[in-house]
Amino acid sequence: MELEILRMVVRGIAWKWLCAVPLIGSVASPGMAQDSIAPVPVAVAPPLAPPIAIIPAAPAESPAADTLSSFFRPINPLLVMDADFLRHRDPALWAGLAVAETRFVENGFAWHFFRITNSVKPDGPFWAVPHDDENAAFSVALDGVRTHGGVAMIVSTTADEESAAARYNLALDGSGRIDPNRNFTGASPRFIHNFLSAPDIEKRLVLSVHTNSPGYSSGENNCGPSSDGGKGNISIRVCDPVMQPYPSFARAFPFNDDDTLTIVPIRPFAGLSACGKILRAADYNVVAENIWATDGSLSNYLMLRNPAVRYVTLEAPHETPGNGETRARLKAMAEGVIARCP
Ligand SMILES: [Zn+2]
Repeated sequence: MELEILRMVVRGIAWKWLCAVPLIGSVASPGMAQDSIAPVPVAVAPPLAPPIAIIPAAPAESPAADTLSSFFRPINPLLVMDADFLRHRDPALWAGLAVAETRFVENGFAWHFFRITNSVKPDGPFWAVPHDDENAAFSVALDGVRTHGGVAMIVSTTADEESAAARYNLALDGSGRIDPNRNFTGASPRFIHNFLSAPDIEKRLVLSVHTNSPGYSSGENNCGPSSDGGKGNISIRVCDPVMQPYPSFARAFPFNDDDTLTIVPIRPFAGLSACGKILRAADYNVVAENIWATDGSLSNYLMLRNPAVRYVTLEAPHETPGNGETRARLKAMAEGVIARCP
């Protein structure tokens, strides 16, 4: 009898041990040395989804936001002393456009936004440019709002943005810095309210325009080749539990470049959005971004507020002389997305 009880205990322990063994490839933790990952692609088990963070409703209904909400002051774009505007001094570029700015302080950071509205065709895409160092993004948003209508919102962190530091906004007391595209959180209602100050924002196609560093480094990749010798983290060759790439097959322009891609937010395991499916069918480089919980970016904020939002990030590598090729790639993607996901 005692022997039988002992056998049952051993069987129980063995069963529990078997159940604890992962059935598919182990998932690399973010801090894990990437060189130790086998080059053979493995099925990556996403982490268990944490509860979706519901961001407190922002600003419009909030008494505090009403008190704080700043107003946009009309300005003459030909007189603005800012490097983005200085590069676009031709009056013809601003015909039919109304430009305004707002400045405000929140959470120890002073913010400065420019808003460009197509006076003739105010309905149209919402062009978001959250990074001041990404000069081609400003040019493409300006061209886009003039050509296709809508509203462009631009974060300006400094008047002289010829450095990577311009990507960030420095705290007023010098204690730190923040990436504007990580500031779409419940702690920053005024920032969100002002950035999204275009009528019927959730009915618009939102195009967030960005540039990135060519290539990618091993530390950013969890399931593809270890590195292509680059230094960025945006590439159609990069994947992890958040980013699922769908590379173009034909690699026709502008997708003859791995850093030129569209990103569409999705709920985990929900599959591509309607627009994402259309872009995929058109042989775009498409990355589905699985949003487990917000990372403070515009895409995450909008997706968690309204999963039906039509949102596409446009990415192209900078570091081409004069950014002419970067602009051409972003413009081609923008026009293609507008035509396919109106
Ligand atoms: Zn960016």
